[in-house]
Amino acid sequence: MSLTTAEKMADFKIKQALPYNFKVAWAERMARGFYWDDRVYGKVCVSVGGLDSITLALFLENIGLNVPRVSVSQLEDKSIQQIHKQLDVIRVKPAEDNQGRRYNQIRVIQEFGFPVISKAKARKIEILQTPDSPKQTFIHAIMTGDMGEQGHYGHSDKLKLPDKWIQLFGGLYNDHRPDLCCKCAKFRVSNRCCYWLKEKPMQDWQREHGVFPYLGLMAIEGGQREQGLMKNGCNYFGKEVIRSCPFAIFSRQDLLQLALDLHAPVPEVYGQIKRKADGTLYTTKAQRTGCQLCGFGIHIEKRPHRFDRLYYANRKMWDYYMHHLVQDDQTGEWYGWGRVLDYIGIEWRHDQVEIFADWEQ
Ligand code: SF4
Repeated sequence: MSLTTAEKMADFKIKQALPYNFKVAWAERMARGFYWDDRVYGKVCVSVGGLDSITLALFLENIGLNVPRVSVSQLEDKSIQQIHKQLDVIRVKPAEDNQGRRYNQIRVIQEFGFPVISKAKARKIEILQTPDSPKQTFIHAIMTGDMGEQGHYGHSDKLKLPDKWIQLFGGLYNDHRPDLCCKCAKFRVSNRCCYWLKEKPMQDWQREHGVFPYLGLMAIEGGQREQGLMKNGCNYFGKEVIRSCPFAIFSRQDLLQLALDLHAPVPEVYGQIKRKADGTLYTTKAQRTGCQLCGFGIHIEKRPHRFDRLYYANRKMWDYYMHHLVQDDQTGEWYGWGRVLDYIGIEWRHDQVEIFADWEQ
């Protein structure tokens, strides 16, 4: 008898609350189950990025599974790229457009807009920034949460953008929220970066080699991921997607403990894994990394944030990314992440350098 979605989610939560040793044993069972499943039968790869998936790659090796490691490594921090080299990770390049021109972060930002806040919110903001959009029902739902006839006149707080972002980006469709005073940003926002730089090239590579991926995702990271992992479980065999996420039920603490147990090499960008007096594990520098210069999650990151780290690592590159990425079509002025961060209220300037004296090395 198959479980309902609510039952699957409840079961997942119970597993998340179990002790570390159980979760590691569960991850092993899931990883082996996927590898030997009839639909997969050893045709696998592991998608490698930061510490989570580096740990996953070593975990798979440790339990005796031979799994090629693959990454669009060039998007990662230099210290992560070094570890990828040590681990013999196969390097894949970002996707090309239909004229054979390869995308990079700068081109994606110039053509589509800045990846900022979160993937799901950037997608909604992109729609709000499209003049005369035919998606009026969706726009109404983004602005109000009311789903109209198609959604049986229901209401969804998940679909609605928080008012804070509606006020900053909903200017073109202010009539859907006459109670707010909405503005238009002088830059575009988009979620398409991940697709062109990571998802498409990895999917193309997997298709070309006939393999299915292990991914280092954990539901605890929240957002769309959490719902998908809770509903679909660690191993998923869909029509379009077949994948395994053996660490889906892990907490951050579980992941760091396993990284220690496996003696995983910790890229310099994270600093070191240390234990606080109360036993909590943490990394002394970045807690998480994504691509260099991704804006997803920047609004919830404390300073020194990723742009501060770049400031100390490479002042010239920082200046370029903050000020010279995109040319304003109206004024001809060049601008970059500085304009975006100012607009969404994130501090990034270095007038108060002494605050981060530890980083000045
Ligand atoms: S994580 Fe950010 S920068 Fe990296 S590909 Fe995705 S959107 Fe682009």
